[in-house]
Amino acid sequence: MATQLSYSCLNFSASETTTVTEYPRLFRPLDVGHLTLPNRILMGSMHTNLEEAPNGFSRLASFYAERVRAGVGLIVTGGIAPNEQGAVFQGASKLTNAVEAARHRAVTAAVHEAGGRVCLQILHAGRYAYSPDLVAPSAIRAPINPYTPRELSADDIETHIEDYVRCAALAHDAGYDGVEVMGSEGYLINQFVCRRTNHRRDEWGGDLERRIRFPVEIVRRIREAVGSEFLLIFRLSMIDLVEEGSTWQEVVVLGRAIEAAGADLINTGIGWHEARVPTIVTSVPRAAFAEVSKRMRAELTVPLITTNRINMPEVAERVLADGDADMVSMARPFLADPDWVNKAWEGRPEEINTCIACNQACLDHTFQGKLTSCLVNPRACHETELEIRVVDTVRDIAVVGGGPAGMATAMTAAQRGHRVTLFERSSELGGQFNYARRIPGKEEFSETLRYYQVMLDKYDVRVHLNRDADVQSLKAYDAVVLATGVRPRELELPGIDHPRVIRYPTAILYPERVGPSVAIIGAGGIGFDVAELLSHADRPTLDPEAWYAEWGVDLGVQNRGGLKTRSQPVSPRRVVLLQRKTSKPGKELGTTTGWVHRTSLRHRGVETLSGCDYQRIDDDGLHLHVEGDPRLLPVDSVVVCIGQEPVRELYQPLVEAHVDVHMVGGAWEATELDAKRAIDQGTRLAARL
Ligand code: NAP
Ligand code: SF4
Repeated sequence: MATQLSYSCLNFSASETTTVTEYPRLFRPLDVGHLTLPNRILMGSMHTNLEEAPNGFSRLASFYAERVRAGVGLIVTGGIAPNEQGAVFQGASKLTNAVEAARHRAVTAAVHEAGGRVCLQILHAGRYAYSPDLVAPSAIRAPINPYTPRELSADDIETHIEDYVRCAALAHDAGYDGVEVMGSEGYLINQFVCRRTNHRRDEWGGDLERRIRFPVEIVRRIREAVGSEFLLIFRLSMIDLVEEGSTWQEVVVLGRAIEAAGADLINTGIGWHEARVPTIVTSVPRAAFAEVSKRMRAELTVPLITTNRINMPEVAERVLADGDADMVSMARPFLADPDWVNKAWEGRPEEINTCIACNQACLDHTFQGKLTSCLVNPRACHETELEIRVVDTVRDIAVVGGGPAGMATAMTAAQRGHRVTLFERSSELGGQFNYARRIPGKEEFSETLRYYQVMLDKYDVRVHLNRDADVQSLKAYDAVVLATGVRPRELELPGIDHPRVIRYPTAILYPERVGPSVAIIGAGGIGFDVAELLSHADRPTLDPEAWYAEWGVDLGVQNRGGLKTRSQPVSPRRVVLLQRKTSKPGKELGTTTGWVHRTSLRHRGVETLSGCDYQRIDDDGLHLHVEGDPRLLPVDSVVVCIGQEPVRELYQPLVEAHVDVHMVGGAWEATELDAKRAIDQGTRLAARL
């Protein structure tokens, strides 16, 4: 362990930090522009929807300040539009006048008071704006937006550049330490740079020099307006991952021009939002794109930041050691664990609540217009209302069930000072997560189990494995929390006891028992997971080379956009995924992740059938009607994934015994149960007990 001091309390010098931390490169100060940053960690930009919420800026201030107190040295805010047309959706936050600037003072004051620094991200959505008034270099609709943009005139472009400059100047007035100009992910600046979206024939389109003029002018004029003592970061799209994206030579030309125009730091942008290559979901290998940053770093003199799927200190340290970048940007990991930096500094990485890149409570919420939070940390963006206070009266609390709901309840209650005992019927903690972590591409879920195990131990929770709690013994506790979870729903169908029928828990734990051809009944989240598992060959998962090949990613960016011909993964089984509904299978999966699951199964040749009416299972296989037509699927195995029922047999007897009893997670409600609700319910209950 490096030290017990809070990281943010220390004075930094390169020699000190290299001797006391396990991550010497991560904690080496960095000179950038007029500043010396205390470490190489950037809390990257995240739009939380607090930006538009009532009282949102003071809540944002609490959110940021908590992270700065734990050692985050530099933050970039969520994207703020430089004018009305640039807002990501109608009514989204913009910075265009002094009144709007005044609201930001709560954020800058809180960050500075906590000892940190914060830059405002200027983001113009261009043709991604979800609004009928959107604008772009050319009137070309984005495939992910129903609205077609209006082409900007040359005069409009001049006004837009001035709007960026005004936004930066207002950020300066509001107390920010700098700005990040968002030039990647397919937003307006990217739209100017690429032939894909810029078909102009005037001085803002055509050859590369004219296409990059827009960002170069923005950076040059911002620098002119704000002077040298104001950090200017540019987020550069290094691999667009779309057809007609930039070539590597074009990215280099732009990077150098931006540097010459006055940027202090170049941040890495990976992939446009409309790209059909996943860039941040859990199945993307850790630090998958750092190599692209490394190649750009060799072309520049200003420091460079790398990003995407860096979630633990050893990964961050490795990319710095490999010379991929001067700094590492992480965004979602700071939702998952506000104390990430302190824990890394103090050599306690096992206590980090790792971001598992599920997107379920962050990006999915953002796109659904809900407040951002985090599946593994429900306090994220709820700092002012979900407080974990130490209790005055210590109670003896029994938690029954060691899945996500039970572990979250037990840990939080114990953290508050209660004496907590956790009973788990099986031989291991984890509940449904023990299935999730076995699915190829969901290996990160093991990190959450590691986190809870470490923290339950840290807070002295007495964990009893292989123990069924009974009413008599539970009466001894001041409060009992039933987190007894779910059991698979039984399918009522002739032949359901046939030996070829397998319940999903068995299929996941023992995939070798599933034959070479298989029908999966039920195309919910679990059905998709089982199809993913059964259609994967026995090769190491999260193998970066296999992943680049499958998704057609060329880190060398030899072709425009860095795309290459995909390789076809070979499935060891013929898999058919079935549902009764007539809608598209997988429609209910996560907003930002569902398409990845659907595409991955397509890559593996998994067939899907909708409108199924199951008839019977016998020696010939599964008999069913598909949209009324009789069919026989002559499969070796039938795996049943049709949801779950709550397990709560203890509840009524405990009520009758006058025990203070509560229910959380699947025991409370099995329908549409997910770990997000389970952990949230457990944490909130424990915060009140
Ligand atoms: P589920 O989504 O509740 O159910 C799966 C499907 O089974 C239903 O959509 C239903 O579709 C079918 N079904 C239900 N009752 C049936 C019956 N009696 N006979 C035949 N078919 C029936 O359950 P799950 O897949 O086990 O998922 C449980 C929870 O975990 C869900 O909330 C899910 O979102 C979450 N989860 C999500 C993911 C992910 O997003 N990747 C992964 C794992 C789990 P039809 O009636 O149309 O056939
Ligand atoms: Fe990470 Fe999932 Fe939390 Fe988002 S919700 S921050 S992806 S763990």
